[in-house]
Amino acid sequence: MVLVRPENTQQARLVRLLRDDGPRSRVELGDALGLSRSTLTVELERLVARGLVETAGPAASRGGRRSSLLRLGGGVRFAGVVVAPDRVTVAVTDGELNVLAEATEPVDVRTGPEAVTGRAVELVDKLRVELGIPELTGVGIGLPGPVSAEAGASVAPTALPGWQRFPVRDAFATELGCPAVVDNDANVLALGEQHTGIGRTVEDFLYVKLGTAIACGLVLGGTLYRGATSSAGDIAHLPLGEDGPTCVCGESGCLEAYCGDAGLVAAALAAARAGRSAELAGRLAAAGTLTVRDVAAAATAGDPAAQTLFRDAARRIGRVLVGLVSFFNPGIVVIGGAADGIGHILLAEIRSVVYRRSAPLATGTMPVVLSDLGGRAGLVGAARLVSEQVFATG
Ligand SMILES: [Zn+2]
Repeated sequence: MVLVRPENTQQARLVRLLRDDGPRSRVELGDALGLSRSTLTVELERLVARGLVETAGPAASRGGRRSSLLRLGGGVRFAGVVVAPDRVTVAVTDGELNVLAEATEPVDVRTGPEAVTGRAVELVDKLRVELGIPELTGVGIGLPGPVSAEAGASVAPTALPGWQRFPVRDAFATELGCPAVVDNDANVLALGEQHTGIGRTVEDFLYVKLGTAIACGLVLGGTLYRGATSSAGDIAHLPLGEDGPTCVCGESGCLEAYCGDAGLVAAALAAARAGRSAELAGRLAAAGTLTVRDVAAAATAGDPAAQTLFRDAARRIGRVLVGLVSFFNPGIVVIGGAADGIGHILLAEIRSVVYRRSAPLATGTMPVVLSDLGGRAGLVGAARLVSEQVFATG
């Protein structure tokens, strides 16, 4: 295994800039990082000699000497893996984290971590071979629910029964023969937004990830913030009322118990059985059960009971955001992971609560938006996750 880590801080800053901004001329690199010409020459020569950086053709002339563009080397190839409760998605990217190939496959995470990680490794390796890549530079993995960065494993994962403490990071590192980093999917999605989405434009933002597991990724000062024990942003079990629905954690009235997919489905089943929604009752009778996709489809078809469920959920998420926004003062809040078609119902309600209840100074210019990256945000974010480690010094 060839480790292509930068040797010092200057080299680390150079490769990160080339990752984030693409090919640049020597002059642009020197200007952006404030490096002297001699330092830049020495460090770039070292990076080129080690294959981390290569020449990419002539730069547009700025007058004077012709200069050539530099970019990350063609041997720098990352893999991203995103595990969801019902599927696994993988991609291989270049050094700038452009997706070169991707694959997705339905899985049931309840079959256990060995089977699912084994299949993900096979999918990554198949893409690697098809792309003619001798070895990967690193693999990043996003998992739903809390992850211990230290252990590289899920901790008390309600969305991943049976995965507690399974060494996900070490399994990928061993099987693929490259560095591996594991994080929760909200952090991975926040990194994807930071690299290629609206998060590029701000230094401080929150990414609220809805769905089976609810969590929040925090990017503060341009860096993902994990907290003392890598559980920053774990908002799933914030208490919203003691008489609320029972949560998988054993408490009552948690945010996730109200607003997670399982909570929404439970409320929809209750509405269908109580005769409050002919639409939901019809879908229940046809399929024998309901999924969050059914509830979303009912809402987008105009069913008032289903729409009320999502509006109530959005109001609760909005109230949590009022606290987060006043505490962190983000430049933007990005919402992702909502079921297809109902993002705009959620967004309208969340905005209304956040703008009405937050201090004007915190929300005066702060947009609340839906992520528009789709499935690639997680893949790019997972690749960025491991690139952060590989492109650090030491
Ligand atoms: Zn809970």
